[in-house]
Amino acid sequence: MTPPRPLYRLDRNDFGILLNILKEKGYLTVGPTRRDGAILYGALESVDDLPIGWTDEQEAGTYRLKCRDDDALFGYNVGPHSWKKYLFPSKTKLWSATKKGSGFEIDRETDTPPKYAFIGVRACELHAIQIQDKVFMGGTYQDPVHAGRRRDCLIIAVNCAQAANTCFCTSMQTGPKVDNGYDIVLTEIIDKARHYFVIEAGSDRGAAIVKKLPVSPVQQTDMDAAAACVENAEKQMGRKVDMTDIKDILTRNYDNKRWAELEKKCLACGNCTMACPTCFCSNVEDITDLGAEHAERWRSWGSCFTMDFSYIHGGSVRPSIGSRYRQWLMHKLATWLDQFGTSGCVGCGRCITWCPVGIDLTEEVKAICDNEEGDPSG
Ligand code: SF4
Ligand code: SF4
Repeated sequence: MTPPRPLYRLDRNDFGILLNILKEKGYLTVGPTRRDGAILYGALESVDDLPIGWTDEQEAGTYRLKCRDDDALFGYNVGPHSWKKYLFPSKTKLWSATKKGSGFEIDRETDTPPKYAFIGVRACELHAIQIQDKVFMGGTYQDPVHAGRRRDCLIIAVNCAQAANTCFCTSMQTGPKVDNGYDIVLTEIIDKARHYFVIEAGSDRGAAIVKKLPVSPVQQTDMDAAAACVENAEKQMGRKVDMTDIKDILTRNYDNKRWAELEKKCLACGNCTMACPTCFCSNVEDITDLGAEHAERWRSWGSCFTMDFSYIHGGSVRPSIGSRYRQWLMHKLATWLDQFGTSGCVGCGRCITWCPVGIDLTEEVKAICDNEEGDPSG
């Protein structure tokens, strides 16, 4: 077992040095920014690009930014974006070919994937990245797009000090404390006199960066303050879901009338799948120019909520919206376990916040568990 690495203190005023070191090392620094009335992931040129002094209020179908009464750098919850926008881009050219003589030649791709440093990754998001690692790189065939972007990706994680009303990571055992898979983890502490971070490396790469920072050793009071931050997030957790036997319960409730009730509510807009950090379905489209000299194959995010998604020779196998919601929820919480050995949900709550009609996964699971209609003996 690797011995625990030492914890240090990094003053808030020295946070910019971390960004500068990452840039010097050739990383493209990306993280939370305030844009279009939300906290979205984008390029971070300096500390001032972070949503300093902002927080958010979230409920089913509702998201609002508001000012904090301090200058926290990471004082908000996850927004509509997830890191999958970098590791599994919404639109990717898989290959192209150009006519040569009587045939086609595949064009040599010269683009190299960016070397990302993700700043401000939360515990649930780290679990989501690891779930997508299994999906894209865990089988016989590796997805070169995800693998190429993941290879050099550096992760600066942040422990949550607060939770949204829509969060339920404690139920999914994915947070709020960052537990593995990071290069550096930070806990932001603001008290009357001080604003600083407790910082810990989680890899040799991370340790080499921490070594260059103007850090000082932590005191017991700093460690207590960091633990109190995470406890606060746990206490604020807005939702919970009982995952006991969930796979068996959902499987035997395939015909539960709750699915049909969703039919009347769900718009099949696919927002939940776009916002979800683990959803990975995609469409593949081939295009050619009018002269048939050049062809390209593009991959773009898909959604199991569309009719086309399950269209097979003459019709969709999931013609009703209820059947499509059931497919999504059962995949997340039941069949994902068979497929990838893990749940497909990390409890980030994005699908609840960003559902325009406020459909709440935790409420749907509870409704089915409380009103089982299948044979409980299996
Ligand atoms: S299903 Fe919803 S709560 Fe679970 S990971 Fe996806 S967006 Fe987050
Ligand atoms: S559950 Fe909500 S977000 Fe998802 S497809 Fe239905 S209406 Fe859209």
